[in-house]
Amino acid sequence: GKSKSVTVIGLGPMGKAMAAAFLEHGYKVTVWNRTSNKADELITKGAVRASTVHEALAANELVILSLTDYDAMYTILEPASENLSGKVLVNLSSDTPDKAREAAKWLANRGAGHITGGVQVPPSGIGKPESSTYYSGPKEVFEANKETLEVLTGTDYRGEDPGLAALYYQIQMDMFWTAMLSYLHATAVAQANGITAEQFLPYAAETMSSLPKFIEFYTPRINAGEYPGDVDRLAMGMASVEHVVHTTQDAGIDITLPTAVLEVFRRGMENGHAGNSFTSLIEIFKKSDI
Ligand code: NDP
Repeated sequence: GKSKSVTVIGLGPMGKAMAAAFLEHGYKVTVWNRTSNKADELITKGAVRASTVHEALAANELVILSLTDYDAMYTILEPASENLSGKVLVNLSSDTPDKAREAAKWLANRGAGHITGGVQVPPSGIGKPESSTYYSGPKEVFEANKETLEVLTGTDYRGEDPGLAALYYQIQMDMFWTAMLSYLHATAVAQANGITAEQFLPYAAETMSSLPKFIEFYTPRINAGEYPGDVDRLAMGMASVEHVVHTTQDAGIDITLPTAVLEVFRRGMENGHAGNSFTSLIEIFKKSDI
């Protein structure tokens, strides 16, 4: 089998947790970080400190990157470009699909393979098989390194396009941030009315956990491009969002978030969707030129 040996570049909270997981699984781990002392704890656990990026690359074929973004990758690897040939870089830094596609090309031009990763868990989820990471890139390169990557989290291979893992990651984050801000906003309104966050918790959790049923109901219709107003009408939804804005105002809470939602509803009304379902707003999102 393959020798259990890997290089980890980037030792933020994520990279540290990754290097530690490899060490726990008996891997020989070579680490490099711009701020060298972030490696100290890992060295006491048995990691090898590379004193240069050249050394870090020379140590292993498989190199894990865990950096703030893809720009940091170029800053680190550009001066060591001639050492990249034959390497496989698994980039677990978050960024856009296009950045991942550019990086794959940049590395291919230097004789290196690239696997894009989108880690879906915080550092505490690293080393747990029930956690999941999206991967994309050449299938045979992914398969050849799958066992090693499974030390970090479960793997979900999305396809050959290097942008795919980043894309799946970003569309999940799109939902995550909007949903979590909706929770924070509602909690602020609750608190302004003397309801504590603890008291609100079971209600907030119930609303959030009801969402899959809505998604499952509407998905076939959205897939077909149909938004019939048989169960909900946009005009009704707009009145409902107006009530939310007014309740927010009455509580003395910032109205930015529900006002943004209201604006999308208003555009849907202007575009003739009053009698359609609120899901017709997806057509408004697709008209980014408006
Ligand atoms: P950090 O931003 O804390 O890690 C940054 C790492 O990148 C450090 O090692 C830092 O080096 C290095 N770095 C940044 N810019 C440069 C540069 N210009 N040159 C050299 N090195 C640079 O992030 P995390 O460890 O938290 O996360 C890493 C990646 O994982 C990110 O892309 C993040 O989005 C993603 N992720 C993180 C999650 C989390 O909960 N933390 C969850 C899911 C994904 P130095 O130490 O010298 O500053």
